[in-house]
Amino acid sequence: MLSDPAIGPWGGCQLVILAGNVKLFLRIEVISINSDSRHFDYLSSPEASEAAAKDGSTLVWPFGACEQHGPHLPLVTDALFAEEILTEVLDQMPKETPIWMLPVQKIGFSPEHLGFPGTLSISADLMLQLVSEIGRQLADLGIKRLVLFNAHGGQIGLLQAVARQLRAECPSMAVLPCFLWSGIESLKDLIPHREVEEGLHAALAETSLMLSIKPELVGIQRPFDGDENFPKNNISIPEGWSLEGAAPCAWLTKDLSITGVIGDSRGANPDLGDRLKNALVEHWTSLFINLMNSNWPSLGA
Ligand SMILES: [Zn+2]
Repeated sequence: MLSDPAIGPWGGCQLVILAGNVKLFLRIEVISINSDSRHFDYLSSPEASEAAAKDGSTLVWPFGACEQHGPHLPLVTDALFAEEILTEVLDQMPKETPIWMLPVQKIGFSPEHLGFPGTLSISADLMLQLVSEIGRQLADLGIKRLVLFNAHGGQIGLLQAVARQLRAECPSMAVLPCFLWSGIESLKDLIPHREVEEGLHAALAETSLMLSIKPELVGIQRPFDGDENFPKNNISIPEGWSLEGAAPCAWLTKDLSITGVIGDSRGANPDLGDRLKNALVEHWTSLFINLMNSNWPSLGA
């Protein structure tokens, strides 16, 4: 009869101690690695090797940030958007499509928001090194394409630069740096011109999208950067220059806002968030399908 069996699972084994006896029961657990998973790091080593060897094998690396998004959105906002939208996009892809996602890079290059508590930023040098080192390893593994799927506007240029450098170093692997909010045709019908053009921060689009994706993470405040209490409110950007776009001025958040919000979050609502999410998923699904159906960059040549 068993007396107070001490059962401890150690990597699939269970040791059961009987009175007067010691019996070792080996419980063989069938650890099923989900070969349907789109998560590269959930593959076994042989599966990763097999995945990389496929024609057109593609990895998507989501990039976010850990940075202030005003008093009403969490630090993880950009990382969460990159991961959620990408997950929905990959769910639309045919099962046999050789595409997987890497773990999200949740700390990015965010010097513009330093000084607002909670913001963590790595240097430009470190970001270049990180992407170069991992990129070289992926190319060595045999991956044919690496997509840098970025949701933080402050590191667009940096990722474009490292993508070009990596491609030159590893010509067998395509590197495609893209920005979540770029190229979405219907944005102009959904959010104001200024926010579309200047990619504002924690304003109407991001607040609405979060209300759609994770409403429980959205606080009750709805800040805007025209706050009359902001002492620098009368400082305007020189004519012809802009926050982003043709003649950008490498702003720091504290130049523009006391709340950390750049733009106006007051009209945010979940219905707009749903429409933004659908537009993002539709756009990126189409682009990823086109990529996977292409032979870029001269695959097999
Ligand atoms: Zn953001």
